[in-house]
Amino acid sequence: MLAVYNDPIFLKHQAGPGHPESPIRLEVIMRVCGSISGLHVIHQCQPSPQEYIELIHKREYVDYLKGLKGDYLYMLDPDTAFSPFSLEASFKAAGAVIEAVCFVFSAENNRAFCAVRPPGHHAESDRGMGFCIFNNIAIGSAYAINEGLANKVAIVDWDVHHGNGTQHAFYTEPKVLYISLHQYPYYPGTGSFDETGEAEGKGFTINLPMVAGSGDEEYRQAFNDKILPAIDDFKPDLLMISAGFDAHRNDPLAGIELSTDFYAEMTKMLVDLAKKHCHGRIVSVLEGGYDLNVLADSVKVHLEILLNHE
Ligand SMILES: [Zn+2]
Repeated sequence: MLAVYNDPIFLKHQAGPGHPESPIRLEVIMRVCGSISGLHVIHQCQPSPQEYIELIHKREYVDYLKGLKGDYLYMLDPDTAFSPFSLEASFKAAGAVIEAVCFVFSAENNRAFCAVRPPGHHAESDRGMGFCIFNNIAIGSAYAINEGLANKVAIVDWDVHHGNGTQHAFYTEPKVLYISLHQYPYYPGTGSFDETGEAEGKGFTINLPMVAGSGDEEYRQAFNDKILPAIDDFKPDLLMISAGFDAHRNDPLAGIELSTDFYAEMTKMLVDLAKKHCHGRIVSVLEGGYDLNVLADSVKVHLEILLNHE
């Protein structure tokens, strides 16, 4: 079964006038969900308890955000706004991923897509950045391990930007394999090939930087040569995807040239791995993607494969 997690509060988080990370992105995605039969759509999510947010974020940072509630469009960094509903949206975005993790552990071949805002993979332990407030996928991964659902979690981050926050959350942690494909050099500046983890986590961070202009062929090679063998070696209990759709050739923010079909191809490869290693458990979490047509088409093929690929 494929569950999609959404909540009306995600539309109320405002990033500011003209900001690419707009609520319309999620409206478009939910329209796509309405066009696919067989999805189990959850329209209301529970906020994450603060103790799970604190698996990744410092209490001082969470308390700081709680103190900002009511401020209008307070900027956490030049790109990242905190509006009156952002606190509630952020707690529920993390809560949605936790619910999705529980769902995929509840039955064989359960899969989930979290249609959430704000996105998460740039958020660091002590600060929001790059449109992100809480690191939703990192919180979900840490929850799965902390609660004893999973001994090992693999995260594949195909957003065009490097997920600095997720990398740093698990940089010394051998239980989480973090793999990122991203345009490099580019925002946020991290994610070079030689960032591979530290101490016990050495080797459990894999960065696959791509020069601008790279496309399906370069990504396919990275999957075949690096990603698929690494996940086969790691044998995760849960596979998570930081699903940004901004590496598409029509996305306005970056210069990677993926086709819509390649999002289907990547999804198929990861479903096959999840079936091989972890009873088909996949939790995909929305990150970026800023061209509305591309977002609709790419999310559609991603969901159709998650729903139907056996
Ligand atoms: Zn991105």
